[in-house]
Amino acid sequence: MTTAPIQENKKSKEIIKCSSCEEELVSDVEEDEQKNIGCDQCERWFHLGCTEFIGLKYEDVKSRDFSCLYCS
Ligand SMILES: [Zn+2]
Ligand SMILES: [Zn+2]
Repeated sequence: MTTAPIQENKKSKEIIKCSSCEEELVSDVEEDEQKNIGCDQCERWFHLGCTEFIGLKYEDVKSRDFSCLYCS
């Protein structure tokens, strides 16, 4: 096992997981589909690519209302 010397973030930084695929959500990603969107109805977060908005530009989606699959 190798441990990449990624920057040591604050230990208190909470890890948010995609409620669809259970993968950790990361910020500062280039891929639109890996960017995070939060449900307007609940606390859940998703990758853009794990929602109905897959294939759309993050810029186009972030101003829209989003209800996740649990809320719609
Ligand atoms: Zn996901
Ligand atoms: Zn929801």
